[in-house]
Parts: sequence; C-alpha cells; structure tokens
Amino acid sequence: MRTIREIKKQREWSKEERANNSIIGLVPTLGFLHKGHLSLVRKAREVSDSVVVSIFVNPTQFGPGEDYKEYPREEVRDLQLLENEEVDVAFIPSREEMYPEDYETYVAVEKFSKNYCGSSRPGHFRGVTTVVIKLLLIVQPDIAVFGEKDYQQLVIVKRMVRDLNIPIQILSSPIVRERDGLAMSSRNRYLNPEERKNATVLYDSMKEAQQLVNKGMTDVDALKKEMIKIIEGRKHPRVEYIEFVEPETLKRVKKVGVSNRILMAVHIGRTRLIDNMEIRGQVE
Ligand code: AMP
Repeated sequence: MRTIREIKKQREWSKEERANNSIIGLVPTLGFLHKGHLSLVRKAREVSDSVVVSIFVNPTQFGPGEDYKEYPREEVRDLQLLENEEVDVAFIPSREEMYPEDYETYVAVEKFSKNYCGSSRPGHFRGVTTVVIKLLLIVQPDIAVFGEKDYQQLVIVKRMVRDLNIPIQILSSPIVRERDGLAMSSRNRYLNPEERKNATVLYDSMKEAQQLVNKGMTDVDALKKEMIKIIEGRKHPRVEYIEFVEPETLKRVKKVGVSNRILMAVHIGRTRLIDNMEIRGQVE
C-alpha cells in the first residue's frame, strides 16, 4: 500500500491507473477507522481494480463549538487496518493544501442540506459536499462508496453527482452495528460506560417502531411518541429529531408506506449520535 500526502502525487497515481484501464474505487473517511469503514473498503474492492481510501478530518464540515479539534485521530492504526484490507492507496492530504488561507469556493445541495442534521449543524453538508467534490476531482475514481450510516449525506452526495453530471457511480453500503445494535461510529469513543449502555436506545426505539407498524400502527406522530417514550425512559438521552421520510427525496411522511426511512439524532450526555433504519409498512 502507498501512502500519498500530496494532491499532485495522487493525481499522477490516478492518471497512471486510468491509463492502464484500471477501475478506481474511492472510500472517503475522516479516519479513526472501524468495521463500518472497512465494510465500505470491501465493497469498493469487489467492484474496482484499485482502491483508494482517503483520510481527512475535514474542517469545513465542523461548525463552531463542534468537535473538530478533539475528533479522534490514529493514523498508524488506520494505515495498518488498510494495509490488512489490501488497499492500494491511503490518501492523506494536508489541511493547508486542501484549504489554503485564501480558499473561497463551496458546493451546496441546497434543499436537502437544510433539514434534519442540517438544521442543528448549519453549513455541515456544504462542508461535506465541498470536500467530496474536491476528493472526486483529485482522485478521479470510477466509483465512490458511502455508508448508509450517514443516510442524509448519502442522498445529498448522490444528488450532487447527478446535478453536476459527475461521471462517477455512487454506491452505498449498509450500516454495520455492534452486537447490541449500536451503529459503529468514531464518536462512540466519547461515551462513558454508562452512556455506552444507554446508546442502544436509538436502535431499540427504531426496532420498536417497526414492531408497532407490523401490528398496524402507521400514523407517524403516534409512532414518534412511542419512540420518544422508550428513549426518555433511559437516563442520559435527549432527542434532537426523529423523522420518517421517503428514502430518495427525504420528504417527511405522515403515514408509513411500503418502504420509508426513519432518521434520528439523539444526544447521549455530551455525545451526539445519529442512526437510521428502513421501515416497512403493509403492501397495499
Ligand atoms: P466518517 O469517517 O464517519 O466520515 O465515515 C466515512 C464513511 O463511512 C461514510 O460514508 C460513512 O457513512 C461510513 N460509515 C461510518 N460508520 C459506518 C457504519 N457503522 N456502517 C457503515 N458505514 C459507515
């Protein structure tokens, strides 16, 4: 595996690969890798000849007062994990090269970026789409893989690629969970042992919602109330939002249809966790 830290070198590598007709797959990450990230790497491996994993804690997607500085970074361990997965390139650009002091340009998917995570994190998705388009232009992959863990981000990236006619295929990969249902996330490391136990409440409440739908409850307000009851039954959580949406357009629904998505954000102590799940209603 090669570790590339300069944009020019990454471009040269990609140019050579493309000249050899290799299909390049890209997996963008913030690092501090876990099995969720590695599942994306495996998916990229299945469909590409060469795999590039980028590691970059992107400052433009963190708001003021958020955890940019304390975000966990463990490069040596990350590189070992990627080496084990037979990744071809770990691309680790510097902040200075990605965002020189006079940096000015941003890309935003307007409407999709405003709701849900976008309303508590203004500017977050603008930062995500900006760094993703930069990475796509630098690495020039044929395919890029994103996790369903960040469902709103996935929909936004797909829309950006469609709207800007970027000739790259966006693939998605399912959420990898701990045994007790907590979605794997680099931020889980902020949880103390008691909070960690309570953190399963996101998954538990979504599973309960599915059970209730199976029993015939399809009214979203009623389902949300039941979910909030479960969440507030535990000690540390504070619900930021729970929404039931159309999977492609992220439009809110009032009644659960054949296939919708629950999106949610809950604060456990000082840690903000997000999760989502497909929810299936009755076939009419
Ligand atoms: P991050 O480093 O958190 O920006 O994540 C990088 C990529 O990994 C994103 O596409 C995430 O959606 C994906 N990802 C993070 N956690 C998981 C997980 N538990 N299961 C599947 N994909 C994940």
